[in-house]
Amino acid sequence: MTAVPIPQRIHRGERDVVITWAEEHVGHYPARDLRLACQCAECHDEMTGRPLLDPGAVSDDVHALAIDLVGSYAIRIQWSDGHATGIYPYDFLLSICPCERCVAGRGGR
Ligand SMILES: [Zn+2]
Ligand SMILES: [Zn+2]
Repeated sequence: MTAVPIPQRIHRGERDVVITWAEEHVGHYPARDLRLACQCAECHDEMTGRPLLDPGAVSDDVHALAIDLVGSYAIRIQWSDGHATGIYPYDFLLSICPCERCVAGRGGR
């Protein structure tokens, strides 16, 4: 059984969402990247895995208005473009963690 990662702290910035996984492991997620990574059925075809969201339709200054915890495994982000159905599981967030160590661990991007 794999333990689900639980962030120590989640902070909503002006243009990013900062997730502290551990003391020396902090991911600064650019808000727009996270918005584009939304996995909900509206943004992402669950059958084919194809993104349905047009990146051109997402403004550069999109940002998180609110972040709600969903159980102990995910967060839901309410976006400034009115989108609020996206749920971001912690293991997914960890898999796209933009910190240097994770990016290097995934062999760059
Ligand atoms: Zn979505
Ligand atoms: Zn990381």
